[in-house]
Amino acid sequence: MFTAAVSRFAPSPTGRLHLGHAWSAVLAHDLAAARGGRFLLRIEDIDGTRSRPEHVAAILADLAWLGLDHEAPVFQSARLPLYAAALDDLRARALLYPCFCTRADIAAASASAPHGAEAVYPGTCRGLPECDLSRPHCWRLDVGAALTSLDVLRWHDATAGWVAAGPTAQGDVILARKDAPASYHLAVTVDDAAQGVTDVVRGRDLFRATDIHRLLQALLGLPTPRYHHHPLLTGPDGERLAKRHGAPALAAMRESGVDGRALASTLRAGLLPTGFMVANA
Ligand code: GLU
Repeated sequence: MFTAAVSRFAPSPTGRLHLGHAWSAVLAHDLAAARGGRFLLRIEDIDGTRSRPEHVAAILADLAWLGLDHEAPVFQSARLPLYAAALDDLRARALLYPCFCTRADIAAASASAPHGAEAVYPGTCRGLPECDLSRPHCWRLDVGAALTSLDVLRWHDATAGWVAAGPTAQGDVILARKDAPASYHLAVTVDDAAQGVTDVVRGRDLFRATDIHRLLQALLGLPTPRYHHHPLLTGPDGERLAKRHGAPALAAMRESGVDGRALASTLRAGLLPTGFMVANA
């Protein structure tokens, strides 16, 4: 049966977009276009301290330059009541707990983690008998408690096939931050469902994040989209493109007169500008 696809591009306006974003946006746009669907733009600006209006303006200009038509942008900062309702639901079921640890506390508690491995939260504040909620705190999901009532969870990736979700490996993830009313994991899961997204196209760096999103979908009674995690790109220096590596920004290419539609066609044809490569998994 033919069903129209709803895909989305969901950048965070905390920096300028690079070629990897352009590739992701082209893939998401074309997936919807090929299936008579809709292509959404969601600005992931819950991080009020790092999001900037000038980055939002550049994202809009970049997409227009690439020739990627999208629906009117939706801003996560305007959707906070949705995330609050999901948090209330989980809190009422005793699946959340406040955590008062600082980054330094967590780093010290996980000092035995292999060098270079990202510290997994060791559960220090789980089961604290009494909490003073006037102190700065985030809210974490009690993943162990959450999983007790659920069958094995799986999700589908267009390349990897069926994936058994293993959210435990990532520890008790944060769902509401100290400095923001929701975390990426919560907001993205709630929004993909609320916006009727059928197909999530995003970089392979978020592959394991999908385990957490699948768990949240099960807990909140939300549908599970199809996932399409694409490889990341490396730049001329061999490094993965990321804002922090100073990858050439789309804005700079746009301003220097590069033809954005031609660039989108190049990416569509599976080609990359000279010097860029697909990173090994
Ligand atoms: N906002 C995320 C980012 O810019 C992407 C979210 C997603 O596609 O799920 O990395």
